[in-house]
Amino acid sequence: MRNILFVISGPSGVGKGTIAKLLTERNKNVALSVSCTTRKPRENEIDGVHYFFISREDFKEKIEKDGFLEYSEHFGNFYGTPKEFVENKLLTNDVLLEIDVNGGIAVKEKFEKAILIFILPPSIEELKNRLKSRHSETDEQIAIRIDRLKYELEKEKFYDYSVVNDDLNTAVSEVEEIIEKEKNK
Ligand code: 5GP
Repeated sequence: MRNILFVISGPSGVGKGTIAKLLTERNKNVALSVSCTTRKPRENEIDGVHYFFISREDFKEKIEKDGFLEYSEHFGNFYGTPKEFVENKLLTNDVLLEIDVNGGIAVKEKFEKAILIFILPPSIEELKNRLKSRHSETDEQIAIRIDRLKYELEKEKFYDYSVVNDDLNTAVSEVEEIIEKEKNK
């Protein structure tokens, strides 16, 4: 059975990180990719687990060495998917990327067989409330993320599947069903 590259994307605050984490804990054959970022770690974030937190200089160097499968800039920081990590992992595992909408589309251009899964909120109001209650960003950062919502939601049409994150366990099960379906094709 071939290994598959899956991508989970969706608007900021939709819970895609939690879904990706739970899913990879429950399915040991699915490896979660660790991205590089120039953003500062939030409280409880661990280098090498949540992200590789690197300097802008190191990020730039990695771009020049063609070290990213894709990368983009959000909210003033750079985020990129390390190419080598993904290619190596795919030799033995399915791989899951939890990246933004543009990253997902860029990955599909390079890996035609990648399966893109879009996570939707139950409603826009609910998502705005989630963002505001996260307490990990300043009011200004939250406002920027809310402004970006419409743009992100418009990218759903480029994705192969959509899953609504109303109940976390149901959403994870739905993503698992998609994985199983794709594996059995
Ligand atoms: P956060 O700062 O909240 O961890 O992430 C901000 C955004 O960056 C999220 O939408 C997240 O999915 C996205 N992101 C994380 N890693 C990557 C990556 O490697 N590439 C791209 N394009 N986006 C990423």
